[in-house]
Amino acid sequence: MLETHVPPRRRTVAVRIGRVTIGGDNPVAVQSMTNTDTADVEATAAQVRALAEAGSELVRITVNTPEAAKAVPRIRERLDAMGCEVPLVGDFHFNGHKLLTRFPECAEALDKYRINPGNVGRGDKKDPQFAAMIEVACRYDKAVRIGVNWGSLDPELLARRLDENAARPEPWPLEAVMRETVVESALESARRAEALGLGHDRIVLSCKTSAAPDLIAVYRALAARCDHPLHLGLTEAGTGLKGVVSSSVALGVLLAEGIGDTIRVSLTPEPGGDRAREVRVAQEILQSLGLRAFAPTVIACPGCGRTTSAFFLELADQIQSFLRRRMPEWARTHPGVERMKVAVMGCVVNGPGESRYADIGISLPGTGEAPAAPVYIEGERVTVLRGERIAEEFRRIVEDYVERRFGRGAASNP
Ligand code: SF4
Repeated sequence: MLETHVPPRRRTVAVRIGRVTIGGDNPVAVQSMTNTDTADVEATAAQVRALAEAGSELVRITVNTPEAAKAVPRIRERLDAMGCEVPLVGDFHFNGHKLLTRFPECAEALDKYRINPGNVGRGDKKDPQFAAMIEVACRYDKAVRIGVNWGSLDPELLARRLDENAARPEPWPLEAVMRETVVESALESARRAEALGLGHDRIVLSCKTSAAPDLIAVYRALAARCDHPLHLGLTEAGTGLKGVVSSSVALGVLLAEGIGDTIRVSLTPEPGGDRAREVRVAQEILQSLGLRAFAPTVIACPGCGRTTSAFFLELADQIQSFLRRRMPEWARTHPGVERMKVAVMGCVVNGPGESRYADIGISLPGTGEAPAAPVYIEGERVTVLRGERIAEEFRRIVEDYVERRFGRGAASNP
């Protein structure tokens, strides 16, 4: 018997981050990052809220200046006042030891600190500066992500590993040394953090690279060598389609192997673009693998020469938008609706089959077919729509079905 592949998750410790826990038996969490100036309290709080409303379960903000550090507790207050409880993660580079020690209210308001071991300090400053940040995390019982990045790899560690490599009888390629050093930097920093008193269950690791094959190799190695939860993300994934595809491929391979406990899709937004797009892409990646369900799935055929009308494409798009628009309310009032499957098909070839297989489906007429659109609910043909108002009538049928199946009084909804 062929079974659907639902990837078994790698076993990790669970790490509590504010009201969210990642790793352990918890579902893979979606996170994102703001691109506002953190010192601008109103703009940052508004973007954090928008990202959280789009489904981001953790939101990271950069904390790069004293002004930004001073703003953090005020951002937290603004979010609390708006009823937005999303955990905040502070992103620190270069001066994190100063900001966390000089601004204790910032340290307290954050739920997790991201520390990049390559940007903590150079020479004999590195260890005490790293220790200062870990001590603050211990004092306020905060989680820490040791976030190594290929582009800011600890230069002293890399230099040592390159020297050792040069002395090998058969030196490894540079990329192989880089991959190994990225992993080593994360694991070694985690060991140091624990030696400084940070709990094993307060540490999350990430090792981001900008190329999918490197990312896959690095995370496979990390997964084999530790039980810390792993934050997956392709760094500098890029703009538009390229960023979406690269992230989906890299993260998809790892998630399908059970690797990854929280994900972020780093997309460069187009000018004026919607920052929350990265949240929706992350959700789609998880939903397409069957790991999470966030919104009903719309199964739409791609169209072909059998349907020359764009009507069914427009209908599929309208239904998708309608479902997304209704989800924030349905998520509260109609639990389980996110697992619903809706089919919108273009002609008689696959239309009736896919529509019957979905919870609810419509099979639109192809070119030359009778101008009628049969609607199926749980495999049964329930009606045939005709005329100008097919889209509107189908939306009403979907709304009624959702109420009947997932509403508070629904028999199948405990
Ligand atoms: S269902 Fe019909 S219109 Fe859609 S792709 Fe298949 S053959 Fe083409």
